Amino acid sequence: VASVRDVSKTFGARKALNGVSVEVGAGEMVALIGPSGSGKSTLLRSITGLQSIDPGKGSIAVFGEVVQKDGRVTGKVRAARQKLGMIFQQFNLVGRLSLFSNVMLGCLGRIPAWKGTLGLWPSADKLKAMEALHRVGVADYAAQRANTLSGGQQQRGAIARALVQGARAILADEPVASLDPVSARKVMELLVELNQRDGLGVIVTLHQVDYAIRYCDRVVALQAGKVVYDGPSTGLDTKRLIEIYGPEFEDAF
Ligand code: ATP
Ligand code: MG
Repeated sequence: VASVRDVSKTFGARKALNGVSVEVGAGEMVALIGPSGSGKSTLLRSITGLQSIDPGKGSIAVFGEVVQKDGRVTGKVRAARQKLGMIFQQFNLVGRLSLFSNVMLGCLGRIPAWKGTLGLWPSADKLKAMEALHRVGVADYAAQRANTLSGGQQQRGAIARALVQGARAILADEPVASLDPVSARKVMELLVELNQRDGLGVIVTLHQVDYAIRYCDRVVALQAGKVVYDGPSTGLDTKRLIEIYGPEFEDAF
């Protein structure tokens, strides 16, 4: 999915990322954990090219194409973004549009925007959108306005939009932080299924360490912009994390 090499990102005097290197293979399911302010969102934003990294030696490639180098986002970023489905804590659907229309927005990279604005979606894409909604379990709500849906339903819709977009990987920034435990578990299970059955790569930031351990194969832990653990989730537990993070661990998460 992504190859992050020696990346730093400075905001004023603060180093949000401090020499981070992470390689995420195509079919991996990786949790990104760390206390608030440790750089999780900054790392995801850098991978998608939403944010430039510090000039110097660092670089980022997405599916083999260099998207960031010498502190600049390259021309490859558009094509790379098409392969990455972005999911956020706050669902990021257009509230006044139906769930179906929101999912259709995933096609905008492939057809002219004016066609989308007029609702002139190719029928093959409409079928794809309904299939995606069915796949994530919210087809019954296709006609409902997004802002009238529950958080879990909206998050499933956002995942359906990523599928319609043709994403090969999902980058999710705290996708379950605003959900109740039951919806949160269902969304995590959906991500696992897309990873295992469809081979989608997944990079997901999580505040709940137990979710990272339960649902993800690999955990990358950040502390103050540095990777302090990168390895299998098996064998990770609270005790091990206290060793990694120090005694502040319990307050940190
Ligand atoms: P959280 O768990 O709270 O979401 P995080 O691990 O995602 O935290 P980041 O949002 O990546 O942390 O922030 C890392 C550091 O960079 C923080 O100290 C933050 O204040 C700083 N930072 C992030 N974005 C900006 C910005 N646009 N301008 C200035 N500082 C920023
Ligand atoms: Mg964050």
